[in-house]
Order: sequence, then C-alpha cells, then structure tokens
Amino acid sequence: MPDSKSIPLAGSDEVRIRQGVELAKHCRFGVGGPADWFVEVRSAADIREAYRFARERDLPCFTYSGGSNLFFDSRGFRGLVVRLIGGGWNVDPDSLVVDVSSGTDLPLLIRNLARLGIGGADFLGNIPGAVGGAVVGNAGCYGQSIDGMLISAEIYDIEADTMFTAEPDYFEFSYRHSRLKYDPLRMVVSASLRFREADPLATLEAVEEELQLRLSKHPHDSRCAGSFFKNISREQSAWRIITDAGMADSRVGGAQLSPMHANFLINEDAASSDDILALCRMVQRGVREKLGIEMETEVRYVGQFGIEEIRPES
Ligand SMILES: Cc1cc2nc3c(=O)[nH]c(=O)nc-3n(C[C@H](O)[C@H](O)[C@H](O)COP(=O)(O)OP(=O)(O)OC[C@H]3O[C@@H](n4cnc5c(N)ncnc54)[C@H](O)[C@@H]3O)c2cc1C
Repeated sequence: MPDSKSIPLAGSDEVRIRQGVELAKHCRFGVGGPADWFVEVRSAADIREAYRFARERDLPCFTYSGGSNLFFDSRGFRGLVVRLIGGGWNVDPDSLVVDVSSGTDLPLLIRNLARLGIGGADFLGNIPGAVGGAVVGNAGCYGQSIDGMLISAEIYDIEADTMFTAEPDYFEFSYRHSRLKYDPLRMVVSASLRFREADPLATLEAVEEELQLRLSKHPHDSRCAGSFFKNISREQSAWRIITDAGMADSRVGGAQLSPMHANFLINEDAASSDDILALCRMVQRGVREKLGIEMETEVRYVGQFGIEEIRPES
C-alpha cells in the first residue's frame, strides 16, 4: 500500500519524501516540531534529487547529518529537511586514505577502522554525529580537530547544481568552525581522511577509556548537543565562566544547565526551542553583566525557514 503521507524521490524506488515528520525524533536534543517535508538520503544522486524537489516547489531547504549539534524550532520547519545518513566508506590499503560518505556515523567509523588496524584518530572516537557534520563544524577535542586529517571533500553546490572537490584551505578552518558552518548552499557529500596504521586492541582500548572519562565528566547520554557555548580560550573554558558568573544552576521551563557540567544545556523535561533560546540568552546576559564576557554559541538553532545565528540580546 502506498503511504499517503509520502512520495517517492525521483529516480529512487526506496527513498521517500515524507510529510509532517517530527524533527524532535531526528536530533539528539529531542527538540523540534513537524517538518513540512523530510527525506533521508545516502548518495550524491539522491541529494541532488532532493534539492531538485525543493527547487521545483520553491521550498526552503535545510541539510544536516547526525543531528548532534543542533536543535529545531518547536513550531517545525516550513520546507524540506534533508538528512544525510549512512553511505559507507572505502579504504586505500596503501595510503590508508579513507573516502567516506557524509552520513556515516563517526564513532562507528573510528571503531570499525580500528578493528582493521587503521587508526590515529582516537580523539574522534566518541564525538557523536556523522562525518559531514564533523567536517563542517571542525569537530575535535584535546587540542586536535578533524581538519588535521582532511585531504579533500566533495561538495554539492545547490544553486549551480554541480559538485566540486575542495581542499582543506577552501574551508578556512578554525576552532569549531569552517566557512560552510552557516552556508546553506553548499553540502559536504563525502570526505577523504588520512589515517595511519595502529594496533587494533590499543586503539579500541584508548577509545573506550576516553568514553569512560566522558561519562564521568559530562552528561554524555542526555538529550543535548554537547558543549553549548564555545570556550573563550584554553584557560577560559565556558563551564568555568558560567560557574564563576553564578549561572551554573540556571533553568527555563524544561531546559537546564546540567548539574554535571555547566556548559551542557540539556533537554531535561520536554524543553521547547523557546526554553532553550531563553536559557541561552539568560546565561549570556548573566555572564556579560557579572564578568563582561560575551559567550558565543557552538550549537546551532534551525528556525522555521533555516539556520539562524543565536544572537545575544542587545
Ligand atoms: C554528548 C555530546 C558530546 C559532544 N562532544 C563533542 C566533542 O568532544 N567535540 C566536538 O567537536 N563536538 C562535540 N559534540 C558536538 C557534535 O557531536 C559535533 O559537533 C558533531 O561533529 C556534529 O556532527 P553531526 O553530524 O551530528 O552534525 P549535525 O548536528 O547534523 O549538523 C551540525 C551543522 O552542520 C551542518 N551539516 C551537517 N552535515 C552537513 C553536510 N554534510 N554538509 C553541510 N553542512 C552539514 C548542519 O547544517 C548544521 O548546521 C558533542 C555532542 C554531544 C551530544
């Protein structure tokens, strides 16, 4: 029986564009109302078809992958949301360069490669989300980030409806940042990453140890998007600043700062996007008034028509 609330993506028997999909079920924060249209795609061809669908109907479009660094508006999205999922990877056994689709889960990739004796990226082993999101946000920890491994990426230019290869310089990487971070017109479809030979057992043990460390320090399994605010510097971490400003136990509605780590804003009890935005601005105001420091967000907010920068109240 055909599903009355979905239509097939042109050129694909399996991929369907669905209507009225609750975005809360498709991101780690668990926050977001219904998307008018929603599709999960794996291949570059399907990404292009999804964008053609949106162009033909003049719909706003938003693309993401793992959903672990954002939250959606509780009123939903008035256009097409494209989620990149799965897709897989190929290893060149001589160079240990891995070509990987954007929708590939990053922790899964690191663990699977480790079993083959391919490593050198333990620091990425417990960062939730997919490869595409990690490249666009220059994910990392302990002073290392994914830009150090990137050889090139395949990018889809939505306006021109063309693909091109970008080298690291193109991205203008900096701390948790690339030029694609707020660019809704260019999508990372796949990436080539350089790995190196590594002992399987030692790599898996290191990744597991790091996971245990996270679990002891962060609300790692909570509904959240990781560190909410950017650190000012290595010496001035966001959690320390929030704590020093006396804001560590702040809460608005169902959103609160985690008692375990003040820089993790968590969806504790059916938080709405308005709760999260209000709590974010409350913390920014408190820190500015007490310490004169401006807190910038790391997490992204997807409004009803696209990604929006969370600006502090003026
Ligand atoms: C518990 C927890 C711990 C975390 N710890 C860390 C950490 O240690 N270090 C760290 O860096 N991050 C951390 N994060 C944040 C998050 O895991 C990373 O930012 C991750 O790389 C996001 O990837 P994603 O695929 O989930 O991105 P998404 O949330 O899907 O997307 C994030 C942004 O990237 C854009 N985007 C996604 N995919 C693409 C694409 N293919 N092309 C173009 N744009 C795209 C989206 O439009 C969106 O703007 C943590 C998060 C959680 C929940």
